[in-house]
Amino acid sequence: MNTDAFTAHESNVCRYGRSFPAVFTRALGATIWEEAGNPYIDFVVGSGALNYGHNNPDIIAPAIEYMVGENILLSLDMYTVAKREFIEVFVDSILKPRGLSYKIQFPGPTGTNANEAALALARKHTGRSSVMAFTNAFHGMSLGSLAVSGSASTRELGGVARHDVIRVPYDGYPSKAFDSASYIDFVLGDPGSGIEKPAAIILETIQAEGGLNTASAAWLTEIQRICRKHGVVMIVDDIQAGAGRTGDFFSFEFADIDPDIVCLSKSLSGSGSPFSIVLIRPDLDIWNPGEHSGTFRGNNFAFVSAGAMCKLWSDTQFTAGVERTAAKLQRHLDRLVVKFPKCIEQKRGRGLMAGLKCRSQAIVGRVHDVAFENGLLIESSGPNRDVIKVLPPITITDDELDHGIAILDHALEEQANGD
Ligand SMILES: *Cc1c(COP(=O)(O)O)cnc(C)c1O
Repeated sequence: MNTDAFTAHESNVCRYGRSFPAVFTRALGATIWEEAGNPYIDFVVGSGALNYGHNNPDIIAPAIEYMVGENILLSLDMYTVAKREFIEVFVDSILKPRGLSYKIQFPGPTGTNANEAALALARKHTGRSSVMAFTNAFHGMSLGSLAVSGSASTRELGGVARHDVIRVPYDGYPSKAFDSASYIDFVLGDPGSGIEKPAAIILETIQAEGGLNTASAAWLTEIQRICRKHGVVMIVDDIQAGAGRTGDFFSFEFADIDPDIVCLSKSLSGSGSPFSIVLIRPDLDIWNPGEHSGTFRGNNFAFVSAGAMCKLWSDTQFTAGVERTAAKLQRHLDRLVVKFPKCIEQKRGRGLMAGLKCRSQAIVGRVHDVAFENGLLIESSGPNRDVIKVLPPITITDDELDHGIAILDHALEEQANGD
């Protein structure tokens, strides 16, 4: 294995390269191969950016065809045919069937670009500066996004002041006994609380990096009610949980809410190409032309692949398949929880955004290493890195899913017998 170029020249900041010591070269569906030809089942999928698997032919084929012609690749926010077609299919296949009527902002291509735009718009709309954000949240690595993130190490990164954030407890924090929604409602209404009214409340319906903590439908409905009551903009950061990960296109559909602003990125292009959008309740769309910008707002390759991804959601065979795969994954994890009580504390997450809370970080570290030796990529999350993230492609075949879970089962077995 030749890693000289990386060890000699790449910054110390590289993480996944160290935790998966292999040089990868090819991938299809849920499988990724290193250069000597050894396959790995991929339960990391670009941290949720490859929900449709690697090189999904339904998504990649039209994008490749687009690349071969002399078609527009970069267009800032000019009108292009590819962008028009993306908007049409996104409206017809995703928004309309769900009764949603958002305006679409195209910011820069990363998740944090979308969150920054959403926060800026909420601040502009309300004229207020502070934002409410939750314990264990993760919203990205640019200053506004890391200010609203929960993790101490993430927040310290900016090295500058992170004002204007009010930290509040997420659903179930610090324990199920605490009713965080009632607390938020109370402090927003109480002139003695010392908490100023925020521009927005920003939240994830499942905190992926925070340890796969899930918000209940009742809690989300209550947060929406509280936002409306107090005139606060509700922003759902659906960057990792959206675009199909939970089994629905949006992660909040199960709660039947319609947030004021929704941020999407990661799997939105369907292809792994960078792409993000901000969905805005029409009356909040108070941007002036050009007021917010970004060079890479017009990634036309991503428009084409994202359009192909959206079309899949009009195909009932596709949606039924995702639902079936999610149920199958949940059954597998329920079985592992029962089989390995010495290693696993509980199942976490929802749909195909799943995880296993383990009894220690050390267990997770060893399971990760043994799984890798046997051909499975997994990663950890949570403030104590003691949660195994299980994020197979939502399009994974039954055989690949069974095979990946068998490797995970074996790695857990070794820990259960070892200690
Ligand atoms: C990954 C992620 C982000 C940041 O996206 P980038 O593309 O890395 O900037 C923001 N929020 C959530 C929930 C994420 O998972």
